[in-house]
Amino acid sequence: MILQDNFARKFTYLRLSVTDVCNFKCSYCLPDGYEKPSSVCDPLNLNEIKTIARAFANLGTKKIRITGGEPSVRKDLTDIIRICSETKGIETVALTTNGYKLDKYIEQWIDAGLTNLNVSIDSLDPKMFKQICGQNRLTEIFAGLDKAAKLGLNKIKVNVVLMKQYNQNEFNQYLEWIKDKPISLRFIELMQTGDNKQFFMDNHISGETLKQQLLDSGWTRVISESHAGPAQEFSHTDSLGKVGLIMPYSKDFCATCNRLRVSSQGKLHLCLFGEEGLPIRQWCQQEESEALEQKIVEYLKLKKVSHFLQDGNSGSTRHLAMIGG
Ligand code: SAM
Ligand code: SF4
Repeated sequence: MILQDNFARKFTYLRLSVTDVCNFKCSYCLPDGYEKPSSVCDPLNLNEIKTIARAFANLGTKKIRITGGEPSVRKDLTDIIRICSETKGIETVALTTNGYKLDKYIEQWIDAGLTNLNVSIDSLDPKMFKQICGQNRLTEIFAGLDKAAKLGLNKIKVNVVLMKQYNQNEFNQYLEWIKDKPISLRFIELMQTGDNKQFFMDNHISGETLKQQLLDSGWTRVISESHAGPAQEFSHTDSLGKVGLIMPYSKDFCATCNRLRVSSQGKLHLCLFGEEGLPIRQWCQQEESEALEQKIVEYLKLKKVSHFLQDGNSGSTRHLAMIGG
């Protein structure tokens, strides 16, 4: 069984947000830091996560990405990784993290079954990093990244959001940095959300501009497999590292959508930029996952053909920490 929507898109990838809390203050996401919303309830517990992982696996999901907020603020993150990796049918367990606790916990996480790691590093310069994320942690994050590689984790990506008024000039430094590292850089185009409209207007850089710069300097497009998702990948004969561009504003970005999202509040989000999530928590209370599976299949019929970001409509998402970027 594979989940499929009304537009013949197949969904084998779940992004599971395990908290909306974060300890960073990224200028494009939570510039004033995390503030507890009045309506928030406890995040999904381990039993609920187990049922969700099982339901999606039974519906053909092969990969779960654990995200947030910052997933490592949860003391039971290692257990969450283990639950996902031990779920029958799940082949890939990925984590997206700001790297704050990477150095300390990466060994545990790998032992628990982590296979893929994405670390967000928005600057290679400590001062600029602090300016963007509000934390002075670059040295520790690099140490964590090195440790992950030494421990044999070979699927490591580094996420970067380039912004006009901040790190725009670091594009070439990033390319230089991965020359001798088997890292896949992910340049994520800054996205407009409910809370960052002015920031977006002041800082947005089109992914097409970066693509042109890559092509002009000898990078070539890697033809991705059909289920690879929306990133455009590039390689260069002189570089061990690769580059991926995530360009949500580009034409046809949604055509290759292969992911569904569940928020830490137990809501299914059919799109990062859709409306309010659809409630699934009440079907996560028992170990058996059949009822939840039926609900997911039913909800998927509501998935729209694309987002409406081009029209300045970012749905009800105030910031990506809310439902997991
Ligand atoms: N806290 C973790 C982290 O930062 O890696 C995981 C959650 S964060 C929401 C996931 C990814 O979304 C990060 O790489 C972050 O840079 C990206 N992100 C957040 N807000 C964004 C925005 N408005 N536009 C583009 N990327 C964004
Ligand atoms: Fe936190 Fe990640 Fe948002 Fe930065 S991008 S504020 S690290 S959730």
